[in-house]
Amino acid sequence: MQNFQPTRIERSSTSLKIEWKDSYQSELSYRLLRQKCPCAHCDATRSGKDPFHILPSEGFFENLSLVDIQRVGRYAVRLVWNDGHRTGIYTFEFLRELSEADP
Ligand SMILES: [Zn+2]
Repeated sequence: MQNFQPTRIERSSTSLKIEWKDSYQSELSYRLLRQKCPCAHCDATRSGKDPFHILPSEGFFENLSLVDIQRVGRYAVRLVWNDGHRTGIYTFEFLRELSEADP
């Protein structure tokens, strides 16, 4: 758990860069982060449980960016997207797993 503490989080135009306490470095594209958004709504959309879901167009991901990153307690961040979506809370552990799964 100790290693899942970021020492630095930086936004670039298309990705989020994270430096970790154990000096591991992650770069997660906004596309990936949004596709893996852990909120209940996105989870329902991915699993096909939401009958009203509309798959995002290519342009959607091209224009996607983060407007804010808010710390949630000591273990997570809330990502606020430029389309107003802000319900996704990403634990540091989840972010680390994502970057190790998709280097
Ligand atoms: Zn979401």
